[in-house]
Amino acid sequence: MRSKILHHVQDLSDDELPAYLYDLAALRSHTRTIRRELPDPVELFYAAKANSDARLLRALGEHVDGFEVASGGELQHVRRLFPTSRVAFGGPGKTARELTHALEAGVERLHVESQHELCVLTTLIGERTVDVLLRVNPPLPLGRLPLVMGGQPSPFGMDPAQLDACLRVLAAHPRIRLRGLHAHLASGLDAPAQLALVERIVDWGARWTRAHGLPFDEVNLGGGMGVDYANPERFFDWSAFGIGLRRLLADHPGLTLRIEPGRSIGAYCGWYVTRVLDVKFSHGEAFAVLAGGTHHLRTPATRGHDQPFEIIPSDTWSWPGPRSAVRLEPVTLVGQLCTPKDVLASRVPVIRLRTGDRVAFAMAGAYAWNISHHDFLMHPEPSFHYLDDERPTTPETATADRQRPAQGAGDQTCPVR
Ligand SMILES: *Cc1c(COP(=O)(O)O)cnc(C)c1O
Repeated sequence: MRSKILHHVQDLSDDELPAYLYDLAALRSHTRTIRRELPDPVELFYAAKANSDARLLRALGEHVDGFEVASGGELQHVRRLFPTSRVAFGGPGKTARELTHALEAGVERLHVESQHELCVLTTLIGERTVDVLLRVNPPLPLGRLPLVMGGQPSPFGMDPAQLDACLRVLAAHPRIRLRGLHAHLASGLDAPAQLALVERIVDWGARWTRAHGLPFDEVNLGGGMGVDYANPERFFDWSAFGIGLRRLLADHPGLTLRIEPGRSIGAYCGWYVTRVLDVKFSHGEAFAVLAGGTHHLRTPATRGHDQPFEIIPSDTWSWPGPRSAVRLEPVTLVGQLCTPKDVLASRVPVIRLRTGDRVAFAMAGAYAWNISHHDFLMHPEPSFHYLDDERPTTPETATADRQRPAQGAGDQTCPVR
């Protein structure tokens, strides 16, 4: 799979760089593997905010049980692509307009974030019905992790006391049907840690529902399955996770569990490819200045990691003067932005990197292009390429999939040789 991508990079012209390459066949097969490892009463939703690119969503469509959306915009986008798919709508700060839209669009689950949100919903429900999960922030301290959404003071979900208040509201509004609980507490856990957390959440949920005389039917465990940017070959252990969930479900017959990962599904299928505009030495340290930068791939700047990359040597050189290069020493890979924060990878040892070589950053399929500050400095946007040996796309579908003119402008289809 990697060699296929690297081969494709060589076929791109300099004008097409920077580029995003998405390996849709790899995405499908990765998602199929995840699905296969999960026991049956565990539903797999994809968190659209990780990457809402229309063609990625289409590729995922038949391999997930549904989509989790976190805004009215995502809801509209997913509904347009999948008029009948199962959709869960979560996220803090839902407006009355978004809630109305959710009721009209027929979301399968609405994740209620606060008592106020529930009260707003009671004014909008009318003659309709809706199935809700209450998002809880249970008192389960988590310690240090890349992203923590709960188990500590947080704007997400509700303290147990607010859950109790919600039950009183729900009792007066039978058209808003309580289906269970939702808990998305952390991101970046490996499988044993995720399982340990899941056990605590399920145990807490079972006790809470029992205490309130409610059936313990359904828990959405959120996403957050770890992705190791320092070690692209080390995947979340879905097999161990699946075995653990099976064991847990044996203790809770009739319970349906749902997970809604984003990063661990999409990260691996995306590559951000660019070329080296300049190699220079400053006070003894090597810097490679690349076309593009963190305004296209913000992930390493927000997470403070080195984005893993491969060098694709290019032997064409047509400029006067010597070709600058760094050999057998660390180099810092930066972009074209006039800020010291525009760093994609810092002091990474390389065998050789020259002006004119190409660099392909791996693990750029989630929280990459779509979280980046595209307009800062007004550089051109990357081109987008979708590799798919299972189902070649056509230029017509490329046009239809266009979600925004900006992204569509660079769309190209690339049947894989
Ligand atoms: C962001 C988010 C997810 C997905 O998280 P990943 O770390 O991408 O797996 C799932 N559920 C909720 C509620 C989220 O906010």
